[in-house]
Amino acid sequence: MDLFSESSSNPTPYDTTNTAAAAAAVVTACPSPSSSSSATAAATPSRYENQKRRDWNTFCQYLRNHRPPLSLPMCSGAHVLEFLRYLDQFGKTKVHNQTCPFFGLPNPPAPCPCPLRQAWGSLDALIGRLRAAYEENGGRPESNPFGARAVRLYLREVRDFQAKARGVSYEKKRKRPKQKIANSNQDGAT
Ligand SMILES: [Zn+2]
Repeated sequence: MDLFSESSSNPTPYDTTNTAAAAAAVVTACPSPSSSSSATAAATPSRYENQKRRDWNTFCQYLRNHRPPLSLPMCSGAHVLEFLRYLDQFGKTKVHNQTCPFFGLPNPPAPCPCPLRQAWGSLDALIGRLRAAYEENGGRPESNPFGARAVRLYLREVRDFQAKARGVSYEKKRKRPKQKIANSNQDGAT
């Protein structure tokens, strides 16, 4: 499963100019498992669009395999959280437990038994794509489970914990203008 191959790149923001194509096929339903006809029809859709379609198919497949069965309109934020936790088993990001001696170390010196999880950035980007896909597939924005408050809170929790556990910062990088300070040393030198 290569769901998260572009975890570190920022996804293109939801492009409203692309909805025309999606609107042509408005159905409040997932694609049927056997339909493969449209996959090659479109002329080189963007990487983001491809990824979004793959994510959507994965989610729909998750719904089909869900016990008890789950249909798209029944989907709530709680189900989305369930889906995200399910994806953790395919994660490749080491997230240290608080009891691990390497907790908070960006580059641990040795292996440890802490679990691999989906990186926060991957989940965040995934939710963005699924949120767009949901509405492109006929879902109503006001009932979009990917925009649920519980999902936002969960993502924030994951971000904060992974930042601590991995010793990394997810704060937006501020670009500090590098001013020339070469001459400042000479001030008051004489
Ligand atoms: Zn560890």
